[in-house]
Amino acid sequence: MKISILTIGYELLRGATVNTNFSQIAAELNKMGVPPVLELCAGDDPESIKESFLWLLDKSDLVISTGGLGPTSDDITKTVLAECLGIKLYEDSEVRKNLEQFWKARGRKDIPESVFNQSLVPEGAEVIENKHGTAPGIHIQAGKGKKRKDIIMLPGPPHEAIPMLNYFVLPFVKCHLETPIFSKTSIFAGLPESTAEEKVKHLFEDRSDISVAYCASPESLTITVSSTKDKLVASTMLKVRRLLAENLLSGDNKNLQEEIFSILKSRNEKIAVVESCTGGKISAALTDVPGASAIFPGGFVPYGNEWKNKFLKVEAKTLEKFGAVSEECAAEMALNIANIAEVDASISVTGIAGPAGGSTEKPVGLVFIGTCYRGRLEVKRYLFPGLRETIRRRTVATAFNQLRMQIKECNS
Ligand code: AMP
Ligand code: MG
Repeated sequence: MKISILTIGYELLRGATVNTNFSQIAAELNKMGVPPVLELCAGDDPESIKESFLWLLDKSDLVISTGGLGPTSDDITKTVLAECLGIKLYEDSEVRKNLEQFWKARGRKDIPESVFNQSLVPEGAEVIENKHGTAPGIHIQAGKGKKRKDIIMLPGPPHEAIPMLNYFVLPFVKCHLETPIFSKTSIFAGLPESTAEEKVKHLFEDRSDISVAYCASPESLTITVSSTKDKLVASTMLKVRRLLAENLLSGDNKNLQEEIFSILKSRNEKIAVVESCTGGKISAALTDVPGASAIFPGGFVPYGNEWKNKFLKVEAKTLEKFGAVSEECAAEMALNIANIAEVDASISVTGIAGPAGGSTEKPVGLVFIGTCYRGRLEVKRYLFPGLRETIRRRTVATAFNQLRMQIKECNS
């Protein structure tokens, strides 16, 4: 089954809205082993929408569109498509009733007539309930047998489109795949993709029945193994996980903060953090995990030297002699916070995220990370490539990974 995606809206072409619908739909399809073959983005004009649909329908079996199903005059997706397929629109009484109820439930009396544009449905089309908004999705089947083409139109707002993707589109795709493709994904940390590939590539060499995909980010490495043979996927992924066991996140953990959370929670231990160059990102990541208060009493952001000295008790002479971005400062911060907060684990980070502030001795990207676990301190020096944002993201992930490894070593 060939699938393509059409995202509609001038705001996308103008760069005002990031096209997250495309990336989320594509990622979900990819997980099922059917990544889209094509993607187009069209403005809210009939000609572009029509030509895009016709072109994509020619190249694929299913076109998924998002956007242009709302009540305003620029929402023309289904009108244009119905016109180019020669289908009439009718008013669906069920959808109209739902729209009236939606408005009444919000205490609004005078419903603008334009709202009911959303109850117009192409004849013969299937209406997809919108559980999070007003514009329903629409599924049209055009042609039969080998000439069959399907079009599924989803609303633009991601909080409406993505749930609809999950409860309608993905099950639809699954049930129409001629040869189902199975895949398994595992997440690794602290592992460059080229190193990972070096260790596992022999499993995939000269094999056409199984494929592997690597997706690296500053936070993690995701490896997906796919094949039409489900047992082969399971056994190969097991080998990949064994070969890269050192870096594998455990259980269902999707990122390092979840990993740290589950490790510490299972031991009934707590962590405190001191962040300079990450400005709170480590604390933010930890608090992304629901229930984080069980392991995380809190974090400090002593951005300036005064606070490092005043609250974290970093010696004035340390700051004077070695500077805030130094192994010594990272060491004192990690040790002191562990003592002050009376916790089992701590992280400290101090570095130069740039773009300014670098020197030959201390270039942009230089970061010292201190981790302390059950009284044992470790401080490492890193030189991260990239711009400010990437350096900060790498610092967060590396700090978590340094602590993860330290806890592992401590227990082995
Ligand atoms: P619509 O009513 O379909 O024109 O879309 C309403 C809103 O949904 C737009 O103003 C955008 O903020 C958002 N939206 C539309 N398409 C996308 C997309 N492809 N990715 C992310 N957001 C989108
Ligand atoms: Mg729009």
